[in-house]
Amino acid sequence: MSKKEIPYAFCTAPWVHAHVAANGKRRLCCIAEEAPEQYSKLPWNEFKNSEYMKNVRKQMLENKVPPECKICENPNRVETMRDKWISMYPGESAAAVESTAPDGSTDFKIKYLDYRSNLCNLKCRTCDPSASSSFHTLVSKNFNTDLKAMFGDIGETSPMPTVKNYESIYSKEAMQFCETEDLTRIYFAGGEPFVESSHLPLLQKLVDQKKASNVILAYNTNLGYSLNTLKAWLELAVHFKEIYFFVSIDGEGDIAEYIRAGLKFKNFETNLDYLIQNKPPELRLYLDITFTSLNLFFMQEFADFAIRKNVQTTGKLMVFGENSFPLLRCESISQNVKQKLLTEWNSYFAKLTESQKNLVNVLDGTMKLFGTTTPTQFVSKNESLHRLKTFENLHPNESKFLELLSRKPLGTEWCRELTNETI
Ligand code: SF4
Repeated sequence: MSKKEIPYAFCTAPWVHAHVAANGKRRLCCIAEEAPEQYSKLPWNEFKNSEYMKNVRKQMLENKVPPECKICENPNRVETMRDKWISMYPGESAAAVESTAPDGSTDFKIKYLDYRSNLCNLKCRTCDPSASSSFHTLVSKNFNTDLKAMFGDIGETSPMPTVKNYESIYSKEAMQFCETEDLTRIYFAGGEPFVESSHLPLLQKLVDQKKASNVILAYNTNLGYSLNTLKAWLELAVHFKEIYFFVSIDGEGDIAEYIRAGLKFKNFETNLDYLIQNKPPELRLYLDITFTSLNLFFMQEFADFAIRKNVQTTGKLMVFGENSFPLLRCESISQNVKQKLLTEWNSYFAKLTESQKNLVNVLDGTMKLFGTTTPTQFVSKNESLHRLKTFENLHPNESKFLELLSRKPLGTEWCRELTNETI
């Protein structure tokens, strides 16, 4: 096979991308399987042309899909991530193949950086102790057999090692990349990137080196930090080529505060308003909601909030994979209540003007997706409610799930269905 032919199994990521997940493990990209431990812990300059990476590249060039990429063989979206990588770097694929020695090694430079840590100011109920240091600290301090059943042994390994690894290894590597690599995109997620001490210095470095105008930044951020932090960031952000700013927010007011435990909605809204008024033209702002069984009952209020702020929405369903708080998964809502929720939403959405619909049409699409889910009871109702109570006991002064639900007639109906068994 000529090196110029791009095989089906080829993906640009193992040539142009460096990724570390919030749990401190290296992967080919954010959806690939983790690299084996003995390789994952290597510094980048050893990992880049390790036996593992060389083997991945060789497999792709021999048109064999590496086992860590199986998700791109069974995608859960229309466009696979592999297609996305190839379309993101259209000119680079052939050059990347050309750069590759027969043993799979390459001197191709990194263009896309995505290093995450689990350092986070919040402990969202949709999250997990392995992805949030605050969540981990909370669980560790109160560790008991119920929490162990929910989260495994994680509570016994405090302080969380990955924050330390990030500070001592990965943030230094990321800084180094600003000098040695050809960065054109950086994705910041976490954890919460804005509470990372190396975040602003890294941007400053790119500005100082006059590289910022070539770099596209993308964020998933919770806006739950100080306004001064946001202001300092904005001063640097204006130098970058484009910014995609996805603000994670799972409702309005105390609905958001319940799901995103630790968030002060007032502080969040102050930051959001400041950003709306002061955002540079290159910044595209989105309110990014994770649909849960709680905020589905308040989706009209959330859509009204986005319309009032004149900010585009995006969203996804909390479905498979999350077992700690099964009641928050969208499929835990019964068929009866689900149908009524959809009818209410459809009637609300139909009354919006075209420009309002444009702002919230992803919410409408995600509602339709919710309509296709199969109501499922993941564990018994008693077990679900017990887990809910276990976690709510960690936050004694905060709102409670069933109380919030019962603010709505349909929420009350679902509460009755949930609690007709003894807890
Ligand atoms: S093929 Fe898919 S899973 Fe593998 S590196 Fe590319 S995008 Fe990631």
